[in-house]
Amino acid sequence: MRRSRVFMPTLKENPAEAQIVSHRLMLRAGMIRQASAGIYSWLPLGFRVLQKIEQVVREEQDKAGCQELLMPTMQPAELWRESGRYDDYGKEMLRIRDRHERDMLFGPTNEELITDIFRNSVRSYRELPKLLYHVQWKFRDEVRPRFGVMRGREFLMKDSYSFDIDFAGAVRSYNKMFVAYLRTFRRLGLKAIPMKAESGPIGGDMSHEFIILADTGETGVFCHRDVLEFPVPENVDYEGDLQPIVDKWTSLYAATDDMHDKSKEVELGDQLVTARGIEVGHIFYFGTKYSKPLGAMVTSAEDGEVPVEMGSYGIGVSRLVGGIIEASHDDAGIIWPESVAPYKVGLINLKTDDAACRQACDELYAKLQTAGVEVLYDDTDERAGVKFAEMDLIGLPWQLVVGPRGLKSGVVELKRRAGGERQEISPESVLARLIG
Ligand code: ATP
Ligand code: MG
Repeated sequence: MRRSRVFMPTLKENPAEAQIVSHRLMLRAGMIRQASAGIYSWLPLGFRVLQKIEQVVREEQDKAGCQELLMPTMQPAELWRESGRYDDYGKEMLRIRDRHERDMLFGPTNEELITDIFRNSVRSYRELPKLLYHVQWKFRDEVRPRFGVMRGREFLMKDSYSFDIDFAGAVRSYNKMFVAYLRTFRRLGLKAIPMKAESGPIGGDMSHEFIILADTGETGVFCHRDVLEFPVPENVDYEGDLQPIVDKWTSLYAATDDMHDKSKEVELGDQLVTARGIEVGHIFYFGTKYSKPLGAMVTSAEDGEVPVEMGSYGIGVSRLVGGIIEASHDDAGIIWPESVAPYKVGLINLKTDDAACRQACDELYAKLQTAGVEVLYDDTDERAGVKFAEMDLIGLPWQLVVGPRGLKSGVVELKRRAGGERQEISPESVLARLIG
């Protein structure tokens, strides 16, 4: 895409309403605009990142054997009356009445709806296990929407639901999601630590929040420092035994402020890390909490009809856009990991009225595009300083700078945004580098 054509309304000044760096940078880079409190439009640059994160999440869910579907944003109140949550959910739920005076709601989550789908179609243990997910907008009328997309009212979530015939099966599903989450966050360039979370009605320890460390995080975290260095598994066989991986990752102390245990922390001494964090995912086993009241029954091999065992597993897709920026930026702007960068390369023409520069840039642009490399080509006649500052702000992994002096000696400059190393290199070699 050419800079002269792209819709990317960047801001020179820091917007006064933004309290944290990710919100500030997202507004300044022209990624989002607020529509109303906690509700955002995603402009092209921001939308590209959102879609890339969604795609990484999707690929790792698919590998784990989870199947994608799509449920609507609007749900009938009826289902939530069956589970008892219509009244319990309180003011966070946006309630709407349609023209026939029927009570509807904008879904804050989907346990009831997916349980309804399940109970209408699955009858026997032979069809289990099932793991289903979707990526859909949620609405929660948060008391204090803030920090831009980090705590929105409308936000994009990936939510998965597991269905198993018994507890042992539910553990297998839980472990699949546990491992898929480790891999997902690693691919997003994040170090996310699973931390014991409030386990709700069933008790037990099958509830973990995945937290990334960031000073601006809303959650207090306490963990053994070695947890930060645990390896993320490669080439996972999701049909194999995942328990050893989960056991390893849960073997050391790691808890958020709601759950932490002072005496264990004292024992840890200087091995304890105390920090702030952002919750980017949450996995949760809740047994028959919804299947019982909604009557989602399956016939088992021995016991006749039993309510199906369930769990749910969320990832905050839109929160991750802010979370990744919190984890990866410097004074000049965002530093995107390659996996989610809106473009891989920013091509800067330093002198657009120079025929040689224009020709070299046009050629590099065409060749990179033909090879499928995503390029933002700054073909405008802004001053060099302005172009550099904007490229640093929007954080593309590679900057390719073409100027008349370099071209005379047959080189262009390649700069890596992370780290800032620069290298003079011939146009042919730079193509090989960026395409390879
Ligand atoms: P929180 O404790 O941050 O309010 P939650 O526990 O209510 O989150 P879950 O119901 O577990 O959230 O939702 C799954 C994921 O959705 C969370 O881990 C988080 O990443 C994301 N999420 C939840 N609420 C919001 C929100 N208001 N804005 C953006 N993302 C959110
Ligand atoms: Mg949670």
